[in-house]
Amino acid sequence: MKKIGILLILVSVLVPVRSQEISETSIVNAMHSISSHDLLRFVEIQCDESHQGRLTGTSGYQACAEWLADEFSEWGISPAGENGTWFQWFNVPYTMVLPDCGVTLHIPLKNGSDILKSYKYVTEFMPGSTSGKGEITAEVVYAGYGITAPELGYDDYKGIDVKGKIIMIERESPVNPSAGAEKFNPWYEYTFHQYKHANAIKHGAIGMLYNYGPIGNPNNSYNENFVYVHVGDSVVKDIFSGTGKVHREIIGTIDKTLKPQSFNTGKVVTIKMSTTHFPEGKGSNVIGLLKGSDPELSKDVIIIGAHLDHLGMCYEMIPGANDNASAVAVMMGVAKAIAENKIPMKRSVMFVAFGSEEQGLLGSKAFVADPLISLEKSVLLNMDGVGIGQGINAAAGKDFPVLWSFIEEANKKYIHRTLVTGSFPNLGRPRLDAAILLRAGVPSLSFSTFGSVNYYHVPMDDMKIIKPEIMEDLAQLLFVSVIKMANSLSPLK
Ligand SMILES: [Zn+2]
Repeated sequence: MKKIGILLILVSVLVPVRSQEISETSIVNAMHSISSHDLLRFVEIQCDESHQGRLTGTSGYQACAEWLADEFSEWGISPAGENGTWFQWFNVPYTMVLPDCGVTLHIPLKNGSDILKSYKYVTEFMPGSTSGKGEITAEVVYAGYGITAPELGYDDYKGIDVKGKIIMIERESPVNPSAGAEKFNPWYEYTFHQYKHANAIKHGAIGMLYNYGPIGNPNNSYNENFVYVHVGDSVVKDIFSGTGKVHREIIGTIDKTLKPQSFNTGKVVTIKMSTTHFPEGKGSNVIGLLKGSDPELSKDVIIIGAHLDHLGMCYEMIPGANDNASAVAVMMGVAKAIAENKIPMKRSVMFVAFGSEEQGLLGSKAFVADPLISLEKSVLLNMDGVGIGQGINAAAGKDFPVLWSFIEEANKKYIHRTLVTGSFPNLGRPRLDAAILLRAGVPSLSFSTFGSVNYYHVPMDDMKIIKPEIMEDLAQLLFVSVIKMANSLSPLK
């Protein structure tokens, strides 16, 4: 009798638990349906010339967005954008950079004539992705960080005249987020490219050499009367040459003393830019949903996010294979495996391909400004740059231990990759869609991969640098983690 009693208790405990669980075999089988072959093909299609580098607002971007929506639809995912469509729309003015751009230094000779030194596209300069068009020749004035902050007693433009001149300025500000919130926050607004652009124009400058490194970046404003380029070390070195000042020391002094060190360099430079601006651009996020089966838990939404856009033409096509076709491909791999294997899920899973991440995170800002789901009931697993190397990094795992535990456990059990995390204070200028959702109160992990050669915001970010194995492993890792999250009976946050 006693034995039967124990048996009965055991059966009554085991049966309901077992019926709620998906069998290990079906998880493992479905996980292995994710193949690097498919993921690589998804990257390749996004990087196709027909998509023109996927600058949001362009027809190339929208063609790619529609291709993604078609794939989702074929796998049985439901549209979850505006009015029953796949898309959520927002305004995005955009600029296309055409060939015929250049930066030239005039080196004066004793006889009064000049030697011209032209800089090389990509290795020495990149066109400003939102520059005005035209050719200007003017003196270069070094204007530090390009910041005028009266309340901080700091003005890079004090004591210099930049009217009709080209300024050379630095990115960021004299105080970094690593100094902590109290010290950094007063400088926060001044770190935005749009602020520096407007402040330069306000002071009468007509052009800018932005010491940003020779990489593209469409996250800036457009003004038809202001041309600019991004430059690297060789240009900076030439501008400082013979001035009696050393660039590194000047920066060190500004950062240490918080006293501007602006000066007239005496150098003359020509900037030539060829661009077309489209002020009325429209961009979209692509949003798909697999609704959960539990009447209560299905209100919780696990968002898998990746930005679909890249830099477009600048002036060659920038394919953005790692940034961020790789992440969209991984998201697609997870979506396809869950949908086609009809994995039961209590919570809902949403797939969001953000637009305009590269143009100031406009897609994720639109997503939180006009949410199509309850943000209080959502968590985000975001990816940005997950197609290179051997290791996986997940920003903010220490801030969200519950989310992190699913990832860590799945890695230990199935994937066995180097997996690292940390805290993400999110103090600096936001540079990830996850930063926007975090500020809207959505617990977010943001994945990237590391450990092999990477090219960032240059034409070399193409298929050649992609490592399909890491994409497959990350897709499988997220697939298992998401299924466990979706079916967990305890809260995710
Ligand atoms: Zn990116």
